[in-house]
Amino acid sequence: MTRVLVAGAGPVGLTAALVEHLRRAGGDVRFGERVRDVLTHAGGVQVTAGDGTRHRGGWLIGADGAGSAVRRCAGVEFAGLTYPERFLVASTGTDVASLLPGIADVNYVFDPDEWLVLLRTPDHWRVLFPTPEGTPDGDELARLPERLGGVAETGWDIAHASLYRVHQRAAVRFRAGRVLLAGDAAHVNTRSAGWA
Ligand SMILES: Cc1cc2nc3c(=O)[nH]c(=O)nc-3n(C[C@H](O)[C@H](O)[C@H](O)COP(=O)(O)OP(=O)(O)OC[C@H]3O[C@@H](n4cnc5c(N)ncnc54)[C@H](O)[C@@H]3O)c2cc1C
Repeated sequence: MTRVLVAGAGPVGLTAALVEHLRRAGGDVRFGERVRDVLTHAGGVQVTAGDGTRHRGGWLIGADGAGSAVRRCAGVEFAGLTYPERFLVASTGTDVASLLPGIADVNYVFDPDEWLVLLRTPDHWRVLFPTPEGTPDGDELARLPERLGGVAETGWDIAHASLYRVHQRAAVRFRAGRVLLAGDAAHVNTRSAGWA
């Protein structure tokens, strides 16, 4: 039987559709179960969840994101670098298309002083600004309305904003015995090379 442990709460969107499919195919999907420890031996793998429950199986696929506990437990190095600059990403309920008539759904704006990305998502517009090194996160978030003012002068409705760092790292191997690594647990890279 395929068993999937997910640290987060219940499924939404695409995840909900995939969960239904997996359950119909006989899989067992459990939310709110954080992998704490992994033991491997010649015949299989044992996973200990946060509450101490043990799950045994023949193989384990660690698809638990960039900070993968599975990768750490398997002792696989995540080699690479973290870029020093941060990126400020904001979702806005403001209708950018009405402020900038004719704008495309995906826009990379290059300017001698600053570049930015403007993307239409199903519910919002997403705005992304590069952010200088060494400034406090709080100051950068506070500066967001001023920076949005450079896109268009209006009262911006900011639904969400955060700062994140970009990493370029890959596991030095994607398999350690009966443990396999997939997705961000195996490799993360800057989206500049292939943004969706
Ligand atoms: C701000 C931002 C914007 C992005 N934009 C794009 C984009 O436009 N296009 C694009 O292609 N990619 C984008 N990415 C990258 C994309 O989000 C990731 O590559 C993708 O989500 C990786 O999927 P994943 O399933 O490997 O890992 P995640 O999506 O990180 O999923 C990992 C899952 O594992 C669970 N988990 C974590 N730890 C444990 C544990 N110990 N035990 C059990 N479960 C655990 C988590 O709850 C989560 O459900 C963006 C990333 C960021 C941060």
